[in-house]
Amino acid sequence: MTSKPLPHLTPTGTCWCGCATKVGTGSFFAPGHDKVAEAALLAAEYGSSVAQLLHGHGYGPGHSVSARAVSEGVWQKCPSCAYVGAPASIANHNKKAHAAAGRSGEQPR
Ligand SMILES: [Zn+2]
Ligand SMILES: [Zn+2]
Repeated sequence: MTSKPLPHLTPTGTCWCGCATKVGTGSFFAPGHDKVAEAALLAAEYGSSVAQLLHGHGYGPGHSVSARAVSEGVWQKCPSCAYVGAPASIANHNKKAHAAAGRSGEQPR
């Protein structure tokens, strides 16, 4: 499985949602504007439908996008169940869903 390399992007000092707000160096967005831009893209390109978004990228019920995220190594699968998510989400899920079964005393913080 080969992942297509993403281009390297550099923050420009102006919010990438297009609102023209000046942002600090190192940031692409004014606070919260990444979510605005994400929603706007979904609305403009996919009729605000995540199903359309998935279909547009070749995913759907027969081609799992979450399985792809796991195979790309950016997401992980819970060792105890079918839950998948980002490593931080897995840690969180493990604490909540499997706390009773395996309380491992390990605290990352
Ligand atoms: Zn903005
Ligand atoms: Zn689990």
